[in-house]
Amino acid sequence: MAAVGTWSFSQPAVDRLRSLITSGCHATDAVEEAMAGWLKMTQIKFHPSVEMENDPETGRHIVGRGGFPNSEGVLECDAAIMQGTAGKFGAVAALRGIGTPIRVARKVMDRSPHSLLVGDGAAIFAREQGFSIEPNDSMLSVHSTKAYEEYLENRQKASGHDTLGLIALDKMGNITVGVSTSGAPFKSPGRVGDSPIPGSGLYAEHMVGAAAATGDGDRIMCYCPSFQIVQLMKQGSSPNEACCAVLKDIRRRTFPEKCFELGLIALNMKGEVGAASTVEFPYVFWDMENDSVEIRVQLPPSNKNE
Ligand code: ASP
Repeated sequence: MAAVGTWSFSQPAVDRLRSLITSGCHATDAVEEAMAGWLKMTQIKFHPSVEMENDPETGRHIVGRGGFPNSEGVLECDAAIMQGTAGKFGAVAALRGIGTPIRVARKVMDRSPHSLLVGDGAAIFAREQGFSIEPNDSMLSVHSTKAYEEYLENRQKASGHDTLGLIALDKMGNITVGVSTSGAPFKSPGRVGDSPIPGSGLYAEHMVGAAAATGDGDRIMCYCPSFQIVQLMKQGSSPNEACCAVLKDIRRRTFPEKCFELGLIALNMKGEVGAASTVEFPYVFWDMENDSVEIRVQLPPSNKNE
């Protein structure tokens, strides 16, 4: 059993993964629950919900409700979930009006003949599955509305990227990765980042491990880092070796000083964690041996070492 999450704001979600997984929850249910707050499971004890995606406060981290809208003031979210078992993937992109996009991605995985639904099509599917589509105003927070007004005044793109990425390994040996983001602040309408693209924002393979990425999704998706990390783990690399090798290769190809914002996390079937990044990158790891949920800080490699 093990769990890891991107950025320090994932700490409540990793805490929740710990309590769900130790209660016997399946990794996929645990990831959905830790991201969205999902209390329908009757076989597990009640755990207080943290509602990461649906909490307007986490919107500051560019996740779900309260995230930064696109250049027309509309919040569009991307989310995906992948279970290691072959063929288990579901994603939504540019989804409007729903505060828990990971739950819709899960429904795509379980109930749709398709794997990725976007925009209006994703919203129609969500409505068919019982989700209500909220007006855009209720998707924004005071903070994101103010940021958008400032953007309209000076047309300066806000910097900053964050994706909530979670990987869980359960008692039965299932491994699942999920990601959720409102994407680049004030992006063009319809822009989709790396997060819902399999192999780029996330990847998982049963009996091997899983990986997730965060950062500049327009660039990340050119390199499929999550797929590459899992392939390296399959060939025997540790999660840390795999993350570092993939980062090194991307930095070599882009030239280290021109490399974009990128944070990578990975977990294998032994519960070993790995990370690599081009920026200071805090991630949260549930360390089973010490039974602690701890924030670790990954530092970028120095150009001199390459
Ligand atoms: N990768 C996400 C995107 O570009 C955002 C992020 O992780 O910062 O949509």
